[in-house]
Amino acid sequence: VAHCEADVNNNTPVEVVAKNPVPDFKWHVLWEFVKPQLFALVCAVVLAFGAAILNIQIPLMLGDLVNVVARYLRENTGNYVHEIRGPALKLLGLYGIQGLLTSGYIVLLSRVGERVAADMRKTLFASLLRQDVAFFDANKTGQLVNRLTADIQEFKSSFKLVISQGLRSITQTVGCFVSLYVISPKLTGLTVLVLPCLVGAGALIGSFLRRLSRLAQEQVAKATGVADEALGNVRTVKAFAMEERELQLYAYEVDKSCEMNENLGTGIAIFQGLSNIALNCIVLGTIFAGGTLITSNEMSPGDLMSFLVASQTVQRSLASISILFGQVVRGMSSGARVFEYLALQPTIPLSGGGRIPYHSLTGRVDFMNVSFSYPTRPGHQVLQRFSLTLPPSKTVAIVGESGGGKSTVASLLERFYDPTSGVVMLDGLDIRTLDLCWLRSQVIGFINQEPVLFGSSVMENIRFGKPEATDAEVINAAKQANAHGFITGFPDGYNTVVGERGVTLSGGQKQRIAIARALIKNPSILVLDEATSALDAESERVVQEALDRATRGRTVLIIAHRLSTIQRADLICVMSNGRIVEAGTHVELLSKGGYYSDLIRRQRAEGQK
Ligand code: ADP
Repeated sequence: VAHCEADVNNNTPVEVVAKNPVPDFKWHVLWEFVKPQLFALVCAVVLAFGAAILNIQIPLMLGDLVNVVARYLRENTGNYVHEIRGPALKLLGLYGIQGLLTSGYIVLLSRVGERVAADMRKTLFASLLRQDVAFFDANKTGQLVNRLTADIQEFKSSFKLVISQGLRSITQTVGCFVSLYVISPKLTGLTVLVLPCLVGAGALIGSFLRRLSRLAQEQVAKATGVADEALGNVRTVKAFAMEERELQLYAYEVDKSCEMNENLGTGIAIFQGLSNIALNCIVLGTIFAGGTLITSNEMSPGDLMSFLVASQTVQRSLASISILFGQVVRGMSSGARVFEYLALQPTIPLSGGGRIPYHSLTGRVDFMNVSFSYPTRPGHQVLQRFSLTLPPSKTVAIVGESGGGKSTVASLLERFYDPTSGVVMLDGLDIRTLDLCWLRSQVIGFINQEPVLFGSSVMENIRFGKPEATDAEVINAAKQANAHGFITGFPDGYNTVVGERGVTLSGGQKQRIAIARALIKNPSILVLDEATSALDAESERVVQEALDRATRGRTVLIIAHRLSTIQRADLICVMSNGRIVEAGTHVELLSKGGYYSDLIRRQRAEGQK
């Protein structure tokens, strides 16, 4: 929920602060993902529990072993090997089973973790793809990708760690305390007094160190950001001869991060030193106190050995519980970030609604009193009571200064957004009542002349317009788009990989592939968002030829950024400030001597410069 904070006392403009509240962790969402893996998860928990119980048994059995050795030393009779064999074999068996259980639960748990994470990734990606264009206006792509990758990764490792180590640490702490008490209530009492103080102090220092480490990491990221910006915009840096200054900026941040990391290192060193001393003193103290109990015959040496090992286990378990606590917090906040978008419903649903049978579709489009502002800029009205009819099989061009709202008209026809008021109609039906998927995939062809190609083959790029198209259909579309010639000129023909790390195509070639991609749907309505950057004369001629062929027999809306290509349009509309200020054919508008002839004059003048 966005809060609006307005300061009533002074006259500064109202500041709209969109606070991104920290999303809640939803247990029921987690449950939906865990449910299919429940059997494996329960098995993992049982195995992990078993391994932890055995870990408690091991110190007791070590004590038995020591007692055998001690007795042998004292009495020096009997067969040492014979006597020790029983307890030693039992212990070995226990080690073996403990190892097996450990491997077992790790295998199961990593299976559960990976499957839950994969499910989350797929569900989140599906949910993101379903969102409206407005959602992507408001959210940065980088952050969305981060939720798919880093956040799910973090959640997965926390999930696995908390279940395996959490279970083990808690079981061991409780179990070992029971054994400690059984072995010697007196010594246990002593430990209960000392241990919590030490663990508490350790946790305190630990959390301080974690904060230092987080700050140091943030500083490293800051330094990286400086380098990233400078290297990413290296041409600008060089053009202004700013290498020296960028270096200074970077050096400053790096030095700061170096200092912080050194401080962190010192902190860790002191912590390690202190905790070693403390732990060793505990051993010494236990042996000292235990020794007095042995002399007064209240304890055997084996009991002391068991006690030492068990109390070490307790220490380790408590330490790992305190670390796990931080992990739980981190995992839950990553999980919450992942879950936030899972439940988000787009305001424009992709499917549902009516379709018009192909043979009765005329392709007439009416914009009626459409007003619109972008959801990310609610105060700024882009279209104001805009009305326009695209008659069937006719070409209508929209011209006008940049920022006048031309592309917005095309976005509304594609239903990337819904109008704030007014309606857009297809064959007399409000497009909000029509099936969006059908509208986009079969009725409207969109040719953005600064086209985006995917990093796959030419064939796949054209087939993007109609996934079920045969090779022959692809080739036919390419021929219509004047692209067949240059494609077959490549050594790999239609299998040539384009886009990132593929063959680099010229602007004109890309445009023709984009035209083929739109034509393969055989759309009734074609929207051309013209390129703002000019092609060279020869490319322009072939592309124009392809477009002339493509527009024949279709309802066409041209968003024209240059005027040279639209003179043959059936209707030319001049847009300014979100409304049509002039309309007619090229000849009519020229003779009128209004906005259009003004625009023409200005563009000619610019062309001659
Ligand atoms: P044109 O195509 O005539 O150059 P546009 O339709 O692209 O104009 O833009 C009209 C206005 O809407 C401009 O003021 C522009 O800043 C704004 N605008 C365009 N796209 C968005 C968007 N996605 N979010 C917010 N404002 C936008």
